[in-house]
Amino acid sequence: MSNSKKTHIGDHPLAPESMMLHHGYDPKLSEGAVKCPQFQTSTFVFESSQHGKDFFNYASGRVDVPEGVEPGLIYTRFNNPVLEILEGRMALWDGAEDCLVTGSGMAAISTTILALSKPGDVVIYAEPIYGGTDTLLNGVLCQYNLQSVGFNSSAGHEGLAEAIATAKKMGPISVVLMETPDNPTNQMIDIRACKDMLEDVQNPDGVKPVLAVDNTMYGPIFQHPLEHGADLCIYSLTKYVGGHSDILGGSCSGNKDLITKIRGFRNIIGTNMDSHTAWLVMRSLETLKIRMTASSAGAAKVVDFLVDHPLVEKIYYPGLLKEGDPQYDTYKKQCTGCASTFSFTITGGEREAFKVLDSMQMAMLAVSLGGTETLVQHPASMTHSSVPEDRRAQIGITDNLIRISVGIENPDDIIADLAQALATIK
Ligand SMILES: *Cc1c(COP(=O)(O)O)cnc(C)c1O
Repeated sequence: MSNSKKTHIGDHPLAPESMMLHHGYDPKLSEGAVKCPQFQTSTFVFESSQHGKDFFNYASGRVDVPEGVEPGLIYTRFNNPVLEILEGRMALWDGAEDCLVTGSGMAAISTTILALSKPGDVVIYAEPIYGGTDTLLNGVLCQYNLQSVGFNSSAGHEGLAEAIATAKKMGPISVVLMETPDNPTNQMIDIRACKDMLEDVQNPDGVKPVLAVDNTMYGPIFQHPLEHGADLCIYSLTKYVGGHSDILGGSCSGNKDLITKIRGFRNIIGTNMDSHTAWLVMRSLETLKIRMTASSAGAAKVVDFLVDHPLVEKIYYPGLLKEGDPQYDTYKKQCTGCASTFSFTITGGEREAFKVLDSMQMAMLAVSLGGTETLVQHPASMTHSSVPEDRRAQIGITDNLIRISVGIENPDDIIADLAQALATIK
């Protein structure tokens, strides 16, 4: 292992936030530059024809890379120094053997599902799930005879048991995909219990279903799904990891075999991230922990304000869960804190919610989350408007629900903004 991949000083293990400044980058290969330069190139020169032949053999998996040999750079759709360093650093956060990055969160989700499924297979997913994922499964992949079965995340792993029973009658189960906590109502699912249940599933071809967790909402700072039994950890890097609302990206981490399979598929369908975006995400990774910690502390203060507000009815925030609630146990087991995106209901309906949203003076009215700036939106008419009305009611996406993604502004300013906006509906 080259010195640039250092993970310890003596016996002392380095924390991921420290490794974000060096890991995988060797200044000697770049004129001594402290920062990894942007390798804005689509292709790479081979030293000799033999090298070109060897690199293609390694990249295609026809030949195993010999010990101590670098597999070599070929073409940016397969590999690029910036992409490789970024993938190594994301794997560190997730505690994974390997990681691949993609051009968006949806590219990560679709590439993963396609790489691991064949026509006739069934994908099980927890609802609510990200709207794009829902459309991917129920509007697009169903056209290719890839079937799906949903279960309500508030039913937790018991919901999964029912979904498995249904799916078994339909075909082999390829992937189980879930978000925990879900969006926008922050319901928790016990990852370990789901994994244990999947161990007992016998697909006819002997291949086990792969448990994938979309960790966009809480990771990689407050939750590490691979530690709790997930096989894959997926992100929309567009959100907290990118963190500045200025790029699109995605990633998927897991064991070497699974990631190699998904990466091979990515390289052929071309859902890669471009190297400039990768460079920007590497910059974001240096401040990831301090950004997520700051916005989390800010959100906790905003929640304290809302809890006492007479016009606020219910707050969907795991930090408010009480002992005795099964959701509390899952939260304590799986999460080391709360990220800064949560939802709350106000007295009234859509009219009042719109009045509050339209009255915000600093927070911006926009979908997405996890950026440095505070964003607010109305799930029922925006992010979750394609969910049928009766399903929305069942999962708590009511007309008086507002979602907020707290940024890194001074929380007192966010509270002042919310206070004046709420005062308009008194
Ligand atoms: C935004 C989001 C996605 C999709 O990511 P893109 O980068 O927009 O493609 C997937 N899952 C979750 C939970 C998200 O919030």
